[in-house]
Amino acid sequence: MQVMCKSSNQEAETCCSVCGQGFALYWERQNKMERAATLKEVAKTLRSHHKKQAGPEAHPDRGFLVPEWNGPAAFSGAAILGNAPSWAL
Ligand SMILES: [Zn+2]
Repeated sequence: MQVMCKSSNQEAETCCSVCGQGFALYWERQNKMERAATLKEVAKTLRSHHKKQAGPEAHPDRGFLVPEWNGPAAFSGAAILGNAPSWAL
């Protein structure tokens, strides 16, 4: 399952375990077990952003996909099916 993440302090569904930055999540599908597994992937990805920087600036400004995807985020299932707002793309 794919999920789009976007740093947000208003609609945060999960937080980075390193810097505490909140992230809004836009899901491709909703399924409890898949959600739990994907949240672990998100946490891993957020931690990987901190290889070079320790603060919240380590995370991308724009929305990004977990798992990584080679196309534009706007065309991902997660963005379309999750009704990601245009400001997140
Ligand atoms: Zn962080």
